[in-house]
Parts: sequence; structure tokens; C-alpha cells
Amino acid sequence: GKQGTRAAMEADSTTVPFEELYERLEKKPLGEGTYGEVFKARNTRTQEIVALKRIKLDQEEEGMPSTAIREISLLKELSHPNVVKLLDVYCANASSKKLYLVFEMVDMDLKRYVKTKGSLDAATCKSFALQLLEGVECCHTKRILHRDLKPQNLLISTKSNPPALKIADFGLARAFLTPVPKYTHEVVTVWYRSPEILLGSTLYSVPVDIWSCGAIIAEMATLSPLFPGDSEIDTIFRIFRKLGTPTEQEWKGVHALPDMKQSFPKWQHRGWEKIPRMHEIFGPLGISVIADMLKYDPKERISARRALQHPYFVGQ
Ligand code: AMP
Repeated sequence: GKQGTRAAMEADSTTVPFEELYERLEKKPLGEGTYGEVFKARNTRTQEIVALKRIKLDQEEEGMPSTAIREISLLKELSHPNVVKLLDVYCANASSKKLYLVFEMVDMDLKRYVKTKGSLDAATCKSFALQLLEGVECCHTKRILHRDLKPQNLLISTKSNPPALKIADFGLARAFLTPVPKYTHEVVTVWYRSPEILLGSTLYSVPVDIWSCGAIIAEMATLSPLFPGDSEIDTIFRIFRKLGTPTEQEWKGVHALPDMKQSFPKWQHRGWEKIPRMHEIFGPLGISVIADMLKYDPKERISARRALQHPYFVGQ
């Protein structure tokens, strides 16, 4: 309660206890994500409307690990128009299982935005792709991984024109080292997971986020997920069926990965042109940069910075 510690205090909120500072506005959560429920709330001092995320910590764990609090506090320093701003962090006390993260409020997520619009035109897809990569580039420059990029945590602010895309949950995966599913009832999607993670690699880095970007950007055109597997192996096989089974030639060391098997079927790349709407929305340049984001070998996968320099984004 009152003697709770705010990891890094807001200059204007030091005297007001957290519970009084943020007033929950609706009983029903705005959504449920990987780490817990998100509620609409108001800062009673500034009247600012915020998104309050209540993180559920798993039962066995001894309260809030201090490393996680430190990690999260660092995220408060992160400020970019395409990353949902973390405004405040609060942990009731050392033995509490509850942690609250206060974020800027964004009116929609990408899933709902697409649903209300029916589809996205070529200009909107390019704008969202650009903003997604700008946000990712900023975090990658600071060596912060997302690890779980998906349409559900891409939020869309319709207050501006064109609408602004903002990435939620950047950096949280590292703060909470425990496997994600423990925190929530929500089924964890593996549709946007990179092949190196799906094949059991434990040494992975920023390219995992670029893979997710490629899958998400393609989906902006097709309106249906590229690799909607109901399990990790089903997702892997869906990737192989579309992009061809990877060979040692295109991905050196693939057969050394724990879950890659010589006995897997050998499919051929189906070709991007065959996927509905890809060509009309992205054209050859867009398809080329998406293909670079979906390269099997993480070392050959394009970086966010280079993707932003690609003629698809640079040219008119
Ligand atoms: P997440 O935990 O980030 O995956 O969020 C789960 C859902 O909660 C999202 O799909 C949004 O609908 C909602 N949500 C999360 N963060 C915010 C926010 N900052 N503003 C408004 N809604 C949010």
C-alpha cells in the first residue's frame, strides 16, 4: 500500500500513493495480453487517460525480482513515437505478486483497426510497415529485443493522420525471464515466431524481431496470417511449405539446430506472387524487402536500419 516503492518516481507524483493517483475507469479490461490485463485509468493529478497493465507474477516466485524492476525502469527512458511510452512503474511491496505498468493510452490495436476498415490500402500498409521498422530500429539500437511481436501488440492511434503505429511490450520479455505462458490464460501465438526459435535455438538475437515484422507486414496485405500453426511444429511446416524447406546452402548450420530433422519433407519455395494481394499492395520492391525480412539464416536477414534504406521505403 502506502509504503510501496515506485521504481523510479515521477517528479509530480511523489506525494500521492499509486492507488490514488490512478483511478480505474472501467471494470472491464481493455484487453488481455501476454503479461496480464490492461485497464483504462485516469491520472487524477493530470487527468491524463492511461493504460494500466497489471502484471501477474507466477505463484511460486518469491515476489518481484529486483532485476526485473531495474530492467523495466530502464524502459522508462525509452522514448520514440512508434513505441508505446511507459510512464510509470509500481510494485506494491517486495513480497507482492502484483506489478503495475502505466502506459500511454492508444485507442486501437492493429487487429481491431483492420477489422473496422475491412482492409488496408497500399499507402497505409507502407506507412505502418515504415513505422513498425522505425520503432524496432530504435529499440534494436539500444540492444532491446521484443521477442513477441504480433498484430495484437501493435497499437494504432487514430488521433493523427496518417494513423500512428506504436509497439507495445518492448523489452518486457527480458525483464520476465520465466517462460511467458505462466502469466496468463491467453493462448500464446507462435505464428510470428522465427524459425531459429521454433527449431530450438537458444542463442538468438535481434533478427527474431525482424522475422516477426516480415510476417506481420505481409499479413497487412493478405489479411490472414502467413503461418497460422496450432503448434510449433505445425508452424515450422507451414513456413517450409510456403518458403521451401531450408537447405544448408541457404542457412549454414540449420541441421545442427536441436529440432531440425533430416527426415522433414523437402518442399520448394512457392513464390510470393502466388500469395493473394501481395503484389497489388507491395509491388516487386515491397515483396523484395519482405523476403529479406523472412530470410531463413538470421545472419542474412535484413536489419531494421537497412530495411528502412530499402528502395521500397526510400523511393516514391
Ligand atoms: P498486450 O498486453 O500489449 O498484448 O495488450 C493486450 C491488449 O490490451 C491489446 O491488444 C490492446 O487491445 C490492449 N492494450 C494494451 N496496451 C494498451 C495501451 N497502451 N492502450 C490501449 N490499449 C492497450
